[in-house]
Amino acid sequence: MSRHACIVGAGIVGCATAYALARDGWQVTLVDALDAPGQGASLANGAQLSYSYVEPLATPAALRALPGWLLSPSGPLRWRPRMEGAHLRWLAAFVRACRSAEVRRTTEALLALSFASRDTLHGWLRELPGAEPVLHHARPGKLVIHRDARARAAVMRQLAWQRELGCRQRLVTADECIALEPALAAIGREAIAFGVWTEDEEVIDAAALARTLAQASGATLRLGRRAVGFEMQGGTPHALMLQGDRIAVDHFIVTAGAASAALLRPLGVELPIEPIKGYSVTLPIVDSAAAPRASVTDQSRKMVFARLGEQLRVAGFAELTGFDLRIDGARIAALCAAVQENFPGACDLRHSQPWAGLRPATPTSRPLIGSTGLPKLWVNTGHGALGLTLAAGSAALLSRLMAAQPATIDARPYAPAVTLRNAAMKSATG
Ligand SMILES: Cc1cc2nc3c(=O)[nH]c(=O)nc-3n(C[C@H](O)[C@H](O)[C@H](O)COP(=O)(O)OP(=O)(O)OC[C@H]3O[C@@H](n4cnc5c(N)ncnc54)[C@H](O)[C@@H]3O)c2cc1C
Repeated sequence: MSRHACIVGAGIVGCATAYALARDGWQVTLVDALDAPGQGASLANGAQLSYSYVEPLATPAALRALPGWLLSPSGPLRWRPRMEGAHLRWLAAFVRACRSAEVRRTTEALLALSFASRDTLHGWLRELPGAEPVLHHARPGKLVIHRDARARAAVMRQLAWQRELGCRQRLVTADECIALEPALAAIGREAIAFGVWTEDEEVIDAAALARTLAQASGATLRLGRRAVGFEMQGGTPHALMLQGDRIAVDHFIVTAGAASAALLRPLGVELPIEPIKGYSVTLPIVDSAAAPRASVTDQSRKMVFARLGEQLRVAGFAELTGFDLRIDGARIAALCAAVQENFPGACDLRHSQPWAGLRPATPTSRPLIGSTGLPKLWVNTGHGALGLTLAAGSAALLSRLMAAQPATIDARPYAPAVTLRNAAMKSATG
């Protein structure tokens, strides 16, 4: 008889987990507070499967740039300090994670996971013929444009090191940038110091992928149902409590994105996850030749541009402002202005679809995949800025861990470093 797992959270990570477990013979129930899979942070994200761009947010360079970013109201980063223990501990851990040795360890681990993710997703897409058109999956390559020539030496060092780890990237001149992506001609070669070209990077619609995987998994969907806690029996989760209902199964997996920590805290399980808000705008393309075909990152503005069929998605910004999903009009205006400046005339700016989402970020940028330390309770969360890129590999890894099978990559870097408190022994709901 197959074992039954209940997954809490039907974002891209939860839906990928449902698909991976179903492939491995599990019966799956997938729960979400919202009324469709692929909402939350997965709805209108940057759409990048950026397998070679996994460098963590916490780096020595980020630490140096932090004061300048925070002082500029239009800068890519915003921080509203909160005198909360979990927030302050997260910040302290973020600063510790900025050490070079830590950044190298994390980058190596994330590259292994991202390459595994690419292989896993390609395998899944072969099993889902007919899905490709709705997913807008493409391999247009990724071009990162740098406007500051002073960054060149550091970028070259990074590329040389990442080449040893299996990335296929090259430094290109301004002219080569425009040859690779002719739509960039509008900003002119003088505005570009140099670029980095990665030919095998991909794009996909995250929400459509989540819906496709949820459906193909055959999971029982319990949508529009908020999980409020767990019923415990002798220190073991026995049932998931929903508003007015409960689900009793063999195993539970929390994939609730930025809300994962709050759901597990009453059990005494502390996860270091901070919501980092980002914004996107999706625009109809009205002049195909003026819109980029490659996926483009404007490094100085920290914005990404991705073509999804007849639409252009532009995403950016990082705000540590708590669980606040309000859309700041100035951020949306800045994204639209960047589209108009980089790709003038490409899109109809009057029909923009603004969006904001909360990246579930750990201090190190390493996701948390594995056991919570409580029997039968697992997590697959904390994917920060890379949840789409890493979802398939993370799901496959968790499925192996749950089956106590050897995985293709080392699971240790993702082992949730949870602090268990006595509360876990009590009944925890509410
Ligand atoms: C602006 C922006 C751009 C991004 N661009 C990219 C990109 O280009 N490439 C990339 O790889 N990543 C990108 N990301 C990151 C990526 O979107 C996230 O890492 C990913 O969506 C996280 O997925 P998730 O499934 O963990 O969380 P979510 O998608 O947030 O899903 C969590 C789900 O859990 C549900 N939930 C929460 N609490 C409960 C509860 N108590 N009961 C029931 N359900 C609950 C929520 O309703 C939600 O549906 C971007 C993020 C942002 C914000």
